Amino acid sequence: MSCVNHHQCVEQALARAETLCHRANARLTPIRREVLREIWSSHEATKAYDLIERLSRHGEQVKPPTVYRALDFLLEHGLIHRIESLNAFVGCDHPQHPHQAILLICNDCGDIREEGSEAVHAALATLASSVGFSPWSEVIELRGLCRDCRLARERKAAESLDHSDTHEPNGTAT
Ligand SMILES: [Zn+2]
Ligand SMILES: [Zn+2]
Repeated sequence: MSCVNHHQCVEQALARAETLCHRANARLTPIRREVLREIWSSHEATKAYDLIERLSRHGEQVKPPTVYRALDFLLEHGLIHRIESLNAFVGCDHPQHPHQAILLICNDCGDIREEGSEAVHAALATLASSVGFSPWSEVIELRGLCRDCRLARERKAAESLDHSDTHEPNGTAT
């Protein structure tokens, strides 16, 4: 997880959602709020069936359509992003500015980082119009390793090289 105090991330996300919904004259009902909180429980992807299961933990069974409607609401108001390649959802960090997200998904730790690039979106728009194509949606998802996981792998690789040099089975612990 790439944040120091995740509790704060969640509280900020919920406060932002309250403000945005108020401004849009929309209601962040208890179920919508709970779904958003569950999605924000990590910076990783959350699947709809996990939401249904987690929300049903405290007694009453939450029905799938209820959760899907809440997800539609959160998507519509830009509070979450759908990760198409994982069929899952992640909270949006800056829903106050409507945007197309570029999602960087770490294969090792599952962390999802959101980036924006006007240049990338403009290039795609130019590409589409050059062939007369009218796009309805734009999905950009990069799969790979985040910086921490990449460095961890490099360290591991370097260590195993060291070990093969010195024939030390256990090496030095870090
Ligand atoms: Zn976003
Ligand atoms: Zn990672």
